[in-house]
Amino acid sequence: MTLCNSTHETFLQQDVAAILEQIASEVQPLVGKGKVADYIPILAQVPAEQFGMAVATIDGRVYAVGDANQAFSIQSISKVFTLTMALEAVGDALWKRVGREPSGNAFNSLVQLERERGIPRNPFINAGAHVVADVVLSQYPNARERLLSFVRERASNPDIPMDPEVARSEHETGFRNAALANFIRSFGNLVNPVDAVLDFYYHQCALRMSCVDLARGFVYLANRGSCQHSGERVISQERAKRINALMLTCGTYDAAGDFAFHVGLPVKSGVGGGMVAVVPNVLAMAVWSPGLDEKGNSLAGAAALDRFTALTGLSVF
Ligand code: GLN
Repeated sequence: MTLCNSTHETFLQQDVAAILEQIASEVQPLVGKGKVADYIPILAQVPAEQFGMAVATIDGRVYAVGDANQAFSIQSISKVFTLTMALEAVGDALWKRVGREPSGNAFNSLVQLERERGIPRNPFINAGAHVVADVVLSQYPNARERLLSFVRERASNPDIPMDPEVARSEHETGFRNAALANFIRSFGNLVNPVDAVLDFYYHQCALRMSCVDLARGFVYLANRGSCQHSGERVISQERAKRINALMLTCGTYDAAGDFAFHVGLPVKSGVGGGMVAVVPNVLAMAVWSPGLDEKGNSLAGAAALDRFTALTGLSVF
């Protein structure tokens, strides 16, 4: 306890605003580089030359730089919110239907599913997120509204939307997701109709949030499962630990080893160019820049997280 508090105090003695400014200028050469996700056609229209970063501490301070208030499509970052809801609903029974190991494959890969008989490797690859979406659909009437209110409460922003255009654009081109979901269903690991699962999944990915929303929205995972602003317990301390562990090992897909090596924090990325990272007992942060590397993680975002842990000395290791 003393150790945790002192880590937090030591962090607050640093000039966080100045650190964010320094990071923004250091990563500037990478902003606009990489490739904006274009397999979801509407995301291809997002201008690449943007960068924002926000930090939310467990005691309620928020620091931001650049385009930190610009809302964007959070895509796979939403998988952390739905995992939280699914675990709250069914507890450890979830692990009979989805694994907890890194996949070492792309987020939308089909190759492991057949060998592993429709049990996806982890909840953060697309196949795993479909199973989680299926659980949420079964357990919560009006699942979409429940997800929206869960996210809005975590972020203290009642205006967070799901962008129907993004959901529709992904639906029109979601051939791989449709293949994955049908394949899982053939093994009996989806209960709801494939169309209903995919519709929910596309809408969770279409949540639009800013870095400030996301940093605030992830504080419950930094704060041992409790919301900072309301003091409300969202999940147990143990569950927060487990979700953070999954983010560390699986949150950036087949780049998770590299992120653990360079950043040393639980991280979750999305193909909208957003990334969220958690420093347990200290803060949550989010970074956004739409240009992606070949593994689907934000190029400037990854560099910014790397610099943040180097400059502050914060990491779980
Ligand atoms: N909606 C995207 C997809 O299913 C999410 C992927 C991601 O952000 N990595 O392909």
